[in-house]
Amino acid sequence: MKAVLFDLDNTLYPAERDLFSLIDVRINRYMEEVVEIEAENVDGLRRRYWQDYGATLQGLIRHHGINPEDYLDYVHAVDVSSRLSHDLVLQAVLEDLQLPCYIFTNGSRCHVDRVVTALGLEGLFADVFDIRIADYQPKPNPGPYQQVLSKLAISGDQCIMVEDQPKNLKTAKQFGMKTVLVGAEKEHRQQLAYVDAQLEKTSEIGPLLNAWIGLVA
Ligand SMILES: [Mg+2]
Repeated sequence: MKAVLFDLDNTLYPAERDLFSLIDVRINRYMEEVVEIEAENVDGLRRRYWQDYGATLQGLIRHHGINPEDYLDYVHAVDVSSRLSHDLVLQAVLEDLQLPCYIFTNGSRCHVDRVVTALGLEGLFADVFDIRIADYQPKPNPGPYQQVLSKLAISGDQCIMVEDQPKNLKTAKQFGMKTVLVGAEKEHRQQLAYVDAQLEKTSEIGPLLNAWIGLVA
């Protein structure tokens, strides 16, 4: 094993912190106020773009010609510190991991920086791979996974991916990665063929990774 890829939102902090609802409000506002989509059409379009492309942003680029950088700045302008605080347990776990850690997210790098700072995890990630890595194609499309592996110059089977979204792990498994599903949601209680391990919290990952890389836990 050569690398651990961590998703950001609802993976490095629990979904109960509900940070995403703040971003959600900003996405709706962007569609109404900047793209000038009628309010009653916003929810339906978001659902369609999510289904067709994996993210609202791709639909807005393809069908409304928006500037993706403008969108990313706008939707991530939320007060992260109102929902997140230092996670000393996760900090200690990441400091002890024997593999380089990376963030692999459908968000933007500036959002990553804010979240990592709020959680007190600065300096613990070797690099950040954000939505820009494959021309704004989000996970679970294969493009961003290919880009990450090529930038790290490793193969999928040398990589562990930690995520709260099962569909993103499905693609990871197609690349041969070891997969860890985190979170306590109902869907996590099903047995999924492409999930190698399940944890309620990312901070429980130490013993699992040590076992996988052949160290004594
Ligand atoms: Mg996530």
